Amino acid sequence: MLRAPDPATLQRLKAIVGPAGLVPDPAEVEPYLHEWRNRWVGETPLLLCPGTPAEVGAIVRVCHDQHIGLVPQGGNTGLVGGQIPRPGHGEILVSLRRLNRIRNVDAVDGSITAEAGCTLAAVQAAASEVDRLFPLSLAAEGTCQIGGNLSTNAGGVHVLRYGNARDLVLGLEVVTPDGNLWNGLRALRKDNTGYDLKHLFLGAEGTLGIITAAVLKLYPRHRHVETIFASVPTLEAAVQLLAYARDATADAVLAFELIGRTALEFVTRHMPGCTDPLPRPSPWYILCDLSAGRGLAEEAIAGAINAGLISDAVLASGAAQSASLWRLRESISEAQKPEGTSIKHDISVPVSRIPALVERVLAAAPQVIPGIRPVPFGHVGDGNLHFNFTQPVGMDGKAFLARGEDLHLVVHDLTCAEGGSISAEHGIGLAKREEVQRYKSTVEIGLMRAIKHAIDPVGIMNPGKGVV
Ligand code: FAD
Repeated sequence: MLRAPDPATLQRLKAIVGPAGLVPDPAEVEPYLHEWRNRWVGETPLLLCPGTPAEVGAIVRVCHDQHIGLVPQGGNTGLVGGQIPRPGHGEILVSLRRLNRIRNVDAVDGSITAEAGCTLAAVQAAASEVDRLFPLSLAAEGTCQIGGNLSTNAGGVHVLRYGNARDLVLGLEVVTPDGNLWNGLRALRKDNTGYDLKHLFLGAEGTLGIITAAVLKLYPRHRHVETIFASVPTLEAAVQLLAYARDATADAVLAFELIGRTALEFVTRHMPGCTDPLPRPSPWYILCDLSAGRGLAEEAIAGAINAGLISDAVLASGAAQSASLWRLRESISEAQKPEGTSIKHDISVPVSRIPALVERVLAAAPQVIPGIRPVPFGHVGDGNLHFNFTQPVGMDGKAFLARGEDLHLVVHDLTCAEGGSISAEHGIGLAKREEVQRYKSTVEIGLMRAIKHAIDPVGIMNPGKGVV
């Protein structure tokens, strides 16, 4: 049974971090308690910003001994509420922002050792200084932290080529729920010496421990990247185009993103400077990055047009045009806001099932909410759709949101019927904690519960979040 900290315990916790790790002004604590979309507002008796892994360990030990819940927080860009301390529970909030050193970069080994509070952009920049690439990339990269990325097993736009965050990790340093520090910072590509413990903490959303540092994989940088924005006649063509492009370019596809027509219309209507790159409207578009030699992209486009997979295309003439094409994709969530409230899904299915899934969801959603406006887009190269919906024109926003669970049920049931997942890259957090029970077998939930109990028997780590 967890309890709220008493005044003496709060003093002990404050003494661990000292003045540099405290945020005494409640107004400065506020931003840590609101998540990006303002969907969850948290509450905490104390925000701590430890400056070393040893301080993190000391905080956790006190909370363990006193049975106090704690919530790790990275850049606070998570979209399922996992980083927000629940109101009324007296949970300590631990921000990793001061653990922000790059400890080592090794271009020969192709590895970088970064503390959990380094922003993703800082890790990318440190890699780039030694002419290497850290390929994890997402729109929140200036703010999100590597500890948060690993704890959510973040995806982003390069999963197709490099895998999820989980696939980019060689070693981890973790404070376990009893306050011990596990130094698993090995830079080994091969290490078959028992259970691979790091995978327990990756994607665990802070429910099994606090990641304090990681050894990450680096790759050669791409010398030449070509960006293509193409209209495709159907989703079937989009999926075939992916296979075609990978084949025609000897697997040089770095990113393969889907944009629906409604999403493009919202972006061109609301985002300053964004225009439709093609003269004729199309139901679907693909934004694709190729790490191909010069000329290969043109050849691939010509071949795809001949095969009927592309109706029309723009090949970016340089970095500026490439950036403006990517802006169309990255502005979609922002451009939805002026159209009213939205209900969002982060789902995945095997790539070949995307056309069937989209067709079924597009048919079913208006039966739940007539007039609903579907805005599907996403990382279609890895079967991940952000299947968003904007409220019908003229409908009350709150009344629309109140129907959210009915819509989730329909979308998630259809997704699972196609062999998919109800959370492709954002995690479970608070948002999907109840719902996920419907889709996981009792065997799977039982195994997860056993792991949680073995590692965190008191249950102090991010209580009430994740699957168990
Ligand atoms: P937070 O939000 O602070 O925390 C997320 C979870 O991790 C919480 O459960 C928290 O308790 C836990 N946690 C944080 N740090 C630690 C730690 N050191 N140890 C243990 N647990 C910890 N996500 C994608 O996967 N792909 C995308 O393309 C993508 N695009 C995005 C675009 C925008 C504009 C925004 C706002 C978000 C996007 N996200 C995306 C979601 C979000 O950026 C990712 O989930 C990111 O990995 C979260 O990192 P963070 O540092 O902000 O973590």
